[in-house]
Amino acid sequence: MIVTRKKETEVILGMLKGYKSVFLIGCAQCATMCKTGGEQQLCDMQALLEAEGKVATGKAILDPACHLVKVKQFAYQNKDAIKGADAILALTCGDGVQAIKDGIMGKTVLPALDTLFLGEFERGGHFSQKCVLCGECIIDKTDAICPITMCAKGLLNGPCGGSKNKKCEVDREKDCAWILIYERLKVLRKLENMEKIACPRDYSLQSRPQKVIV
Ligand code: SF4
Ligand code: SF4
Repeated sequence: MIVTRKKETEVILGMLKGYKSVFLIGCAQCATMCKTGGEQQLCDMQALLEAEGKVATGKAILDPACHLVKVKQFAYQNKDAIKGADAILALTCGDGVQAIKDGIMGKTVLPALDTLFLGEFERGGHFSQKCVLCGECIIDKTDAICPITMCAKGLLNGPCGGSKNKKCEVDREKDCAWILIYERLKVLRKLENMEKIACPRDYSLQSRPQKVIV
């Protein structure tokens, strides 16, 4: 899922300077899970904007906001409420903001959230980054621990040597990814994987923008 965090209130109000009426859009999936773009957050944002003298012409939670066809359907069904707004404030990830821009033509769409990372939901309110979408997954060799994401230096061929008490030399609060990989491979009796030399990464596979047709 995509992990987001609400921008500072002053930043949001700064973006909305000059816009009197605003339509609010949240997302029923990731942003709801992150408590950044669900029902409560839209109500809170509406109250904040109204306290600042702005008018909320409406609010909606798309399921999800990054689904262009659904955004277009929503835009068609709610054209009057949207038409009456000077701008749309999206409580969604950056992809949601852009899908709303593509699906609701001719309206300024502003991001109320900062998009942080692709994350794993650990438990209520706790998310952790485990993948940076590198375009060439190699974690078959490390038994499902990603050294690109988890190692501070993104090392592919074992530890840097700076680890102390199993912690990373860059951040002593964090586990050394290569110690984690070693321990997991040891338990699974696959330590020979540590001896396999990984080739340099092909950064062209991480080119932007990507497009996939299935
Ligand atoms: S190697 Fe790591 S960053 Fe790349 S796709 Fe696999 S999990 Fe994601
Ligand atoms: S101590 Fe471990 S996690 Fe930290 S940079 Fe070195 S190998 Fe990577």
